[in-house]
Amino acid sequence: MSISAGGPSAAGLATVVATNLKFRPTRAGVMVESMSHSEEVPDPAMPIYVKAARSIRVQSLHRAGGEAHPHYPGDLRIERLGKYLRLSARMTLDQYLRGVLTSEMPASYHHEALNCQALAARTYALNPRISHTPDHVNVCDSYLCCQYFAGLGGEIDPRIEKAIDSTSSQIIVFNDKPILALFSSNAGGHTESYQNCFSDPVTGRFPPEPISYLIGQPEGAYPGLKARVGSEEFLRYLFAAKKANNTGVCADLFSNKFAWSVNLSAAQLEAHLHHVLETLAHNSDTAPFVVPPARGKFGHIQGFEVVKRGVSGVAIELKIKTSSGDWLVKKELVIRKAFANPEARIARLNSARVFFDQSQDKLGLLSTVTVHGLGFGHGVGLQQTGAQGFANLGRNYREIIAHYFPGTAVATV
Ligand SMILES: [Zn+2]
Repeated sequence: MSISAGGPSAAGLATVVATNLKFRPTRAGVMVESMSHSEEVPDPAMPIYVKAARSIRVQSLHRAGGEAHPHYPGDLRIERLGKYLRLSARMTLDQYLRGVLTSEMPASYHHEALNCQALAARTYALNPRISHTPDHVNVCDSYLCCQYFAGLGGEIDPRIEKAIDSTSSQIIVFNDKPILALFSSNAGGHTESYQNCFSDPVTGRFPPEPISYLIGQPEGAYPGLKARVGSEEFLRYLFAAKKANNTGVCADLFSNKFAWSVNLSAAQLEAHLHHVLETLAHNSDTAPFVVPPARGKFGHIQGFEVVKRGVSGVAIELKIKTSSGDWLVKKELVIRKAFANPEARIARLNSARVFFDQSQDKLGLLSTVTVHGLGFGHGVGLQQTGAQGFANLGRNYREIIAHYFPGTAVATV
């Protein structure tokens, strides 16, 4: 093994025979280790390029869920960023899509749903919401930022290969440009409009300018619904429909992600909510969306109230009433994070399309709360389980794409 600093133009671009590699920053540079050999590249001012004849399996990556050992095609660039390393993998768009589709959708899904995912993932790769140009890459591998890419290990399922091949070179366009092809797992019967869930990626402004093709769409005809779509009663109607397994209500009701409930005791909330809100109020990403009461103190919890909802019923503003005044938490992901509770094993709520069943004691303090929710993810754009439901009802991928991204077209580039 030989490693070179200075990029592919420098003499001796490293060609690594080994497949299993570990990388770690050292005091003086970057340590590259294979099973049989290790080499320290002293304080590289330039990225290190590693090239393998076949794929590289990185054994030193930690994800939120623990250690991961992803495979990447043979080209890696390693940069030192303080005490961390940034690994960038170079691959073709189709290689990337194989990894994304494998990570994002079960290969057992209907081929029209897999086609939708291929189109959305290809389009997203060309036009991600957050520009990674400063990072010298097109996209990152996080599902919270871009789309999930867990590497390229083992055989790719032929059904995934087929979806990528059969939609080859096709992307979703609006005014001849690739759209912002947002997608999530399950919207719980109705998708949400972009401006109700996301802030402007450049200015941070919330709400951002609306995007005409990212507006909330129904995923069913809602037979027997008496309430207004988007109201709390609408959410209760959908929740009851799931309990009754009334799959005719909407296309994605079959999914086990459609509806969920979380029980939190007052003690669990008292133990963590204050700390979580303080953290969110001090984190620069979330601080603008957490408004403490005038006295700035957190008292005993009295209850929760959604004071503003989006077209699907997603909570845009949540009031948390306490004995020291009301806290206001805004925006989908921040509201989901506010319920982080290690005791109840909650990192964040599955979605922000929530309503509450809660009771107070004689002093007006919260005694129990159940958070009921619909869907999994932000619920904007294409829905993976919804695409599956519509495909099973006989719709093809072009029709499904047109439903979730109204006014757009499928173009071949
Ligand atoms: Zn990203």
